[in-house]
Amino acid sequence: MKQICILIPAYNEQEALPYLYERLKRIADQLTNYSFSFLFVNDGSTDGTLAIIHNLQRQDRRVCFVNLSRNYGKEIAMVAGFDHASGDAAILLDADLQDPPELIAQMLEYWEEGYEDVYAKRTSRKGETWFKKWSSKKYYEVLQKISTINIPKDTGDFRLLDRKCVEALKEMRESQRYTKGLFSFVGFKKKEILFERDARIAGSTKWNYTKLFQLAIDGITSFSVAPLRLAALAGSAILVICVLMLVFFFIESVFLGRTPTGAAGIITVILFLGGIQLVSIGLLGEYIGRIFMETKNRPLYFVESQTDSFAYQDKSRRIG
Ligand code: UDP
Ligand code: MG
Repeated sequence: MKQICILIPAYNEQEALPYLYERLKRIADQLTNYSFSFLFVNDGSTDGTLAIIHNLQRQDRRVCFVNLSRNYGKEIAMVAGFDHASGDAAILLDADLQDPPELIAQMLEYWEEGYEDVYAKRTSRKGETWFKKWSSKKYYEVLQKISTINIPKDTGDFRLLDRKCVEALKEMRESQRYTKGLFSFVGFKKKEILFERDARIAGSTKWNYTKLFQLAIDGITSFSVAPLRLAALAGSAILVICVLMLVFFFIESVFLGRTPTGAAGIITVILFLGGIQLVSIGLLGEYIGRIFMETKNRPLYFVESQTDSFAYQDKSRRIG
């Protein structure tokens, strides 16, 4: 029997988990051809999430968990999940039931047909503000234009990944992660299925605009050097303007006999150049900051506790 590991990152999801478990259980019981395990990654929750997971584990042997030592964020929680996922395929699922587990049956059908990454694309996003929808749409448009890989829009992390994809993703040890891009980066046979994204069943979103902005920056700087080119482009444009101005002043003084005046003009030019330089330095700083982070070579996470079956394996790995 093929083994499917359902991988659920959870951060302060005590209200949602009981509903989630009921839905998952129903589906796992229907799909009798597969043996399921439910792997919860507790991402440093401060509420009763861990206690609920403990309880579920006592009731149901299919439940296992990894308890991270603090809140690392969903991107890192997913790495911990990949590292500990066993079985022939893994299915990434949000704990808040925004990703309907009922799609799992369809994902498995496509997987049996040979697809290795079956991802769910949302046709609607209930319970989200117009600003979030709009900014997300614009962001994907820009990212698509400037990045080197094709990142499908309106697609979250809800997907089935064949063992091969999981192994490939495990090789990616970068600490500033943009997993959506990594799914595309590793390749493999992909299949899209459409669904309507529900509102959260309980609790509130763990994202705020600061975190989303950070993720957006990570997305761009992980998969594109366009911002660096932008600085170079702006620099070249300024140089061309400078040369034109010099030629103009030269002609003016040599052939027309007029002395170019205007401290105001010079100040403007200086300010303009100063501004451009600062912007360029800022962009360089962004990349240097990333190099700095990567060279620290820190393990991506430390596990505080986990189910016994993991006890003798040291899964925390260093970058590189
Ligand atoms: N999550 C996590 N660590 C975090 C934030 C979120 O593991 O620091 C989990 C969360 O419990 C949920 C999933 O990631 O299962 C998606 O989070 P959320 O629903 O808050 O994001 P949204 O659906 O609003 O994008
Ligand atoms: Mg959610």
